[in-house]
Amino acid sequence: MQTIDALNSTLRSYLDPEQTNHVRRAYYFAEQAHFGQLRRSGEPYVTHPLAVAGILADMHMDHQSLMAAMLHDVIEDTGIEKSAIGNQFGPTVAELVDGVSKLTQMEFGSLEEKQAENFQKMALAMAQDIRVILVKLADRLHNMRTLGVLHTEKARRIARETLDIYAPIAMRLGMNTVRMEFEDRGFSALYPMRARRIDAALRNARGHRKELVEKIRHQVETTLTQEGHQVEVVGREKHLYSIYKKMKSKRKAFSEIMDIYAFRIIVDSVDTCYRVLGSIHSLYKPVPGEFKDYIAIPKANGYQSLHTVLMGMHGVPIEIQIRTREMEEMANNGIAAHWLYKSDGQSANGSHARARQWVQGLLEMQQRAGNSLEFIESVKIDLFPDEIYIFTPKGRILELPRGATAVDFAYAVHTDVGNSCVACRINRRLAPLSEPLQSGQTVEILTATGARPNPSWFNYTVTAKARSNIRHFLKHQTRDDSVALGRRLLDKALTGFDSSLDQLPQDKLQDFLAHQHYTLLDDLLDEIARGNRLPAITAQQLLGEMAANPIERGDGAAQPVAIRGTEGFMVSYAKCCHPIPGDPIEGYLSFEKGVVVHRERCNNLGDMRENSERLVALRWDDEVEGEYPVELRIEMENRRGVIAVIATRINSMGVNIEKISTDDKDYQFTYVLLELLVRNRVHLARIMKRLRTINYVRKVTRVKN
Ligand code: MN
Repeated sequence: MQTIDALNSTLRSYLDPEQTNHVRRAYYFAEQAHFGQLRRSGEPYVTHPLAVAGILADMHMDHQSLMAAMLHDVIEDTGIEKSAIGNQFGPTVAELVDGVSKLTQMEFGSLEEKQAENFQKMALAMAQDIRVILVKLADRLHNMRTLGVLHTEKARRIARETLDIYAPIAMRLGMNTVRMEFEDRGFSALYPMRARRIDAALRNARGHRKELVEKIRHQVETTLTQEGHQVEVVGREKHLYSIYKKMKSKRKAFSEIMDIYAFRIIVDSVDTCYRVLGSIHSLYKPVPGEFKDYIAIPKANGYQSLHTVLMGMHGVPIEIQIRTREMEEMANNGIAAHWLYKSDGQSANGSHARARQWVQGLLEMQQRAGNSLEFIESVKIDLFPDEIYIFTPKGRILELPRGATAVDFAYAVHTDVGNSCVACRINRRLAPLSEPLQSGQTVEILTATGARPNPSWFNYTVTAKARSNIRHFLKHQTRDDSVALGRRLLDKALTGFDSSLDQLPQDKLQDFLAHQHYTLLDDLLDEIARGNRLPAITAQQLLGEMAANPIERGDGAAQPVAIRGTEGFMVSYAKCCHPIPGDPIEGYLSFEKGVVVHRERCNNLGDMRENSERLVALRWDDEVEGEYPVELRIEMENRRGVIAVIATRINSMGVNIEKISTDDKDYQFTYVLLELLVRNRVHLARIMKRLRTINYVRKVTRVKN
């Protein structure tokens, strides 16, 4: 049984005395809090947090992580509150403990495969500080090591959860050593018989192979040393679970899998990796199609190595991995390598900085290697998630973008739920629909028959599904809007004849409606708004002989129709020139389409001036709402990964990209064409300014037709 004093020497080897004392203090606090509680093994409960801290100390984690490890079950098991921990040990440690507790509280239960991945992502998303995950992994590691004494049902559940959730998380973070232990222990607990059989076979085979393994190893090492390479050659064995998975997925017998001899060659530099590869390939014949260069193209979690398969003596296949010591450390410890080998950083945000550093390292590797968009996607989800994960009341998990609200959630559940939602409960408490959701919350939507989407929802929905549904619904609610617009258009036309709808004699109006087969004035106005009747001609017809002397059109133009952006179906925005609030605009009354808003200087509008009776003077209303598409052209140096940077930068400004395409100008330069949604010219200017600060971007211009 480990004691705090035994841990002390490890702590002192890399922490300063004050930090060591903090960790000890946390231990004594936990000891007191858990006083009287026992583990199933009969040991005092505090041995568990102590062991968890021990695992993290071996990884050289900082003192706050160790303190959190000591205290990680205190909130959950002893009813001591987060604030009490905060008072004793500071807010950071309290946050860490709270984070670990929240993960512990999550009941993963048995999962479908699809849900398992969401759970992994959610666990990561919930941890604001990556150390929460590392403490949780250490906690789980110790629980797995001591799983033997639990009742089988519970042990199976924990084992399943470890295989489904925690092993993949360790893998995402590049922590292979931890992942393999999770897998082997999870496998042994879940399938004890199979594990025992494979283990026995493995021991047996090891005995038989020993001689040949050593012979090959020696031959490889000697050859390489003779050629002047500084190398370390080690024999490699697959772990239980990977053997099992291979047997299962490739339907191979144990002996077939064990027929492979595997070695790892550790060298001093990247350059040597390739030279050693050359030497090895001249020693034994390489198997075609088996060579993989994970140095040039690293795996998504940062794994780097050269892989090749050789045909050895007597036709025995030999698997070889070649990598530098650094790559080896990354392969084993992943994100934790940054604590283990660079443990000088004392900054307050050390952990976040390290996590970022890790991601940054991966990013750079990946950018050198290409296919960065896809890669950024996977890393982002891992550590700096743009997604949140929300439970339905029935326990289903939905993935939503960061900033999503209950309205987005409602539409994600079902369009009908979205259209009729009136309120929501977040974690059983009534909350405003506009409240941004957070990972791990359970959201329940309250609906009412006859309820309708509200235009204001546009202000706090982020998903395309919600927005297009709201828009779609509102489209069908635009009769009022179109009548109002038709009224404004007709009134304005009447003004041109020094009249107005109010001044028009009622009998004349009714005669006209009857003659034209309209039941209601609204029907006529609707037709006008839709562009099916021209306002000027209608005005003339209404006024009859009174309209003999139209006054100058310029007078009407002095009172342009104001566009608010909420006119809905009846007003659309030209795709040729993409007008946005702030631009001078003019409208064209198009058949069946209503008013199409163009920029005043749009070339297409110039062509339409021949039909000048269809032109409508417009201006933007002072309280214009909504987001408008706009096209940008970016001229940049042709570099890999830079498009991803642009996309990320725009996303980080909370701006939606509608379309993105590229057009290679020549070898050196490329054009990126973007369609974005912006609020107005000021907003656009700000975005363009930010884009110009990106490296390699030479020019950002708004597209004019
Ligand atoms: Mn625990």
